[in-house]
Amino acid sequence: MCLHSRAGESKITESEYRTTKAGFAGEEKVIQFLVEARLSKETRIFRNVFIDGTQVDIVVVNPRFVCILEVKNMTGELFFSVHNKQFYRLNGEGKKEGMRNPELQLQRAVKVLQRRLHSKEVDVRVRGIIVLASRSGIVVEAPHLFPVIPIDALTDLLEKMESSSKELFNSEDLKIMRKLMKGNRVKVEDSQLFERLNLDGRKLRCGVRCTECFHIGMVRTYSTWLCERCGYRDKDAHLATLQEYQLLFGREISSKELKWWLGIEDRFLSLRILNHAHESYQFGPKNRVYILKFEPYRLERFLVSEMRKR
Ligand SMILES: [Zn+2]
Repeated sequence: MCLHSRAGESKITESEYRTTKAGFAGEEKVIQFLVEARLSKETRIFRNVFIDGTQVDIVVVNPRFVCILEVKNMTGELFFSVHNKQFYRLNGEGKKEGMRNPELQLQRAVKVLQRRLHSKEVDVRVRGIIVLASRSGIVVEAPHLFPVIPIDALTDLLEKMESSSKELFNSEDLKIMRKLMKGNRVKVEDSQLFERLNLDGRKLRCGVRCTECFHIGMVRTYSTWLCERCGYRDKDAHLATLQEYQLLFGREISSKELKWWLGIEDRFLSLRILNHAHESYQFGPKNRVYILKFEPYRLERFLVSEMRKR
């Protein structure tokens, strides 16, 4: 919905949009569970990492394990067929639907990351888990190479992985791994979302959305935001617009990306906003990446109004 109203004339088919949106919502849910897990403080979570042309949804780098999470937000009965390596689901009407096999996707991702780490002389076994983000997805035939778990079991499994692991990576290896993930993170401009949707990031309509009439392009004036269409003032309007950002791109944002998204140029204003809107940040002071607070309620009114339109 956010994307529809921001994409202007660009064409997005309903099904493309739904698949992408579901994928992002699923990853978002997984991140929430990861935040709740009682893992070492040294744990880092990376999203949308591209390694040798292969996309990795989420990588958890813990001092005792490295694990790729393949997130699926699917409903219905799911079958990972062993014989022909096919994956399909039975939807609500009992119709069979073939889909890209998450097990093979994950196998590929694990292999690629493993190989890359070896080339950097980091001797670490990469693990993988398929996470079902929707409680209405039920596995009838399980995969063979990796565990598939419901999202509710994720925190427990990761905590167990940490406590039962016999490995403990040295700080040098950890540093190399983090640097690798960080360096291969997808930037906003060429995000995989745009790629999938055939959209150019720069064509998206940026700017703060009015929280009253939902028009995009509030103006900053006297420490508040003013809607030029309806005259509404809201000093927190940018916080809802940042929730839209999360829905489209995930929770990580740099100061540069924030300025682009909110349509502001003032560096000090952007830092002030980030100070309020972030929950934590990662990496050195030179290229800091902020993790936005997850506050979906800020978007509720807008989403409800969009849903009524459709
Ligand atoms: Zn307005």
